[in-house]
Amino acid sequence: MVELTSASPEETERIAADLAGELVPGDVVTVSGDLGAGKTTFIRGACRALGVAALVTSPTYTIGNRYEGRVPISHLDLYRLEVMSEPDWADLEPYFDGTIVFVEWPEVAEAILPDPRARVRLRLLEGENRLVVVEGATKSLQMPASSPC
Ligand code: ADP
Ligand code: MG
Repeated sequence: MVELTSASPEETERIAADLAGELVPGDVVTVSGDLGAGKTTFIRGACRALGVAALVTSPTYTIGNRYEGRVPISHLDLYRLEVMSEPDWADLEPYFDGTIVFVEWPEVAEAILPDPRARVRLRLLEGENRLVVVEGATKSLQMPASSPC
């Protein structure tokens, strides 16, 4: 597990870009945290690094977006799902076909999602500061000297 602090949206995007370098199709990355914590910002940074030129925004009116980067990418936002029903899962399954999948608000689907390659948790700190906790796929992320874990 790696804990980093980000002091700006750009820094959060850069951390995500580093993580993205380790990802391959078939990988799922869950990104959790309160509203405004930076989940979409993080995913935007990862998508850019993976060659996505399209605008990366929260999929507000659909459950997911697809992007073509160097590999196919899916971006799911499960915020509006209160439970994960069979038909919901049937809608979601195609997003996992040969893609790298980023999932905002993954909690509702944790029992049904494939095992994530990485779990990212973002927490709001003072001002623009965010705590970024990454579990799994942390090889390319810089370890703070003070916490050798
Ligand atoms: P979420 O998807 O978690 O609701 P967003 O990424 O959509 O969050 O929004 C995060 C907001 O916080 C953006 O307006 C972004 O510019 C701002 N922000 C400020 N500082 C940071 C930071 N260090 N990391 C990420 N976002 C930040
Ligand atoms: Mg969002």
